[in-house]
Amino acid sequence: MGFFQDMVAVFKKRELSFLESYKESEDVYTFLFKKEKDLTWKAGQHGLFSITHKKFKNNTKPFTIASAPSENVVKLTMKINKNPSEFKKAMLELKQGMTIGMSGPLGSFYLTDDRPTVLIAGGIGITPFLSIVKQLEAEGNNNKKPVHLLYMDSEKFYLIKDKDELVANNSSLNIKYLDTREDLLTEINKVANLYQNNGQYLIAGPKAMVDSISSYLQNNSISKKNIKKDAFYGY
Ligand SMILES: Cc1cc2nc3c(=O)[nH]c(=O)nc-3n(C[C@H](O)[C@H](O)[C@H](O)COP(=O)(O)OP(=O)(O)OC[C@H]3O[C@@H](n4cnc5c(N)ncnc54)[C@H](O)[C@@H]3O)c2cc1C
Repeated sequence: MGFFQDMVAVFKKRELSFLESYKESEDVYTFLFKKEKDLTWKAGQHGLFSITHKKFKNNTKPFTIASAPSENVVKLTMKINKNPSEFKKAMLELKQGMTIGMSGPLGSFYLTDDRPTVLIAGGIGITPFLSIVKQLEAEGNNNKKPVHLLYMDSEKFYLIKDKDELVANNSSLNIKYLDTREDLLTEINKVANLYQNNGQYLIAGPKAMVDSISSYLQNNSISKKNIKKDAFYGY
């Protein structure tokens, strides 16, 4: 999505009604909101979400919409540590029927064509790919473009609950769980050698990780134009 569409989307504000939340792992929570009929997005995009039930600074933050457009819910999955920010404390206070604000959807972090695709996630950076792989499943990507998801989490708290089912339903999808940077680079070498500049490479995660993997790909002859980045600040 271009800059102009993003500007229009920023001004499109709506309220989302909270349904429920649950703990995914030690420091990751998922929040579900009702999806209104007129709300849609491209798998991988994010929104700007605002706390409205109390007042404090920085009450608006970007979060990926971790559910697929084909799912009947808006899902946000976020890291919340033992000393949460005001924003995240307020998220944990939500009760059924309370609302948060949303602007968007925004951004160009989504699949645009049928080239072989390499999705590289670091930790909480899995959120856009949760949406993308669910959407591919819903669209029936079987035997179409190969999609490799390389998912690194040093704590091994992988957030895909239905990995076997996803892969069984999509013969073109390959998911690798990794827990060291060395293993991640080994897997990146394999796919980058295979697809080179005929593939598209999407990287999401903490900013430092995204920048270093992007440089690594470029040092290995992958052109910048074939790389998309979703850098999460605050980690
Ligand atoms: C396009 C995009 C998509 C994103 N998608 C996601 C996503 O899907 N999931 C996700 O988790 N993040 C996502 N992020 C990152 C997200 O927007 C936040 O930057 C991130 O969650 C950190 O927010 P925070 O409120 O914890 O941190 P900050 O306010 O930046 O604080 C950082 C840390 O400081 C400490 N701190 C701050 N305030 C207080 C306080 N009042 N009391 C005690 N300690 C405090 C906390 O330890 C906190 O973790 C995305 C970012 C972008 C740009």
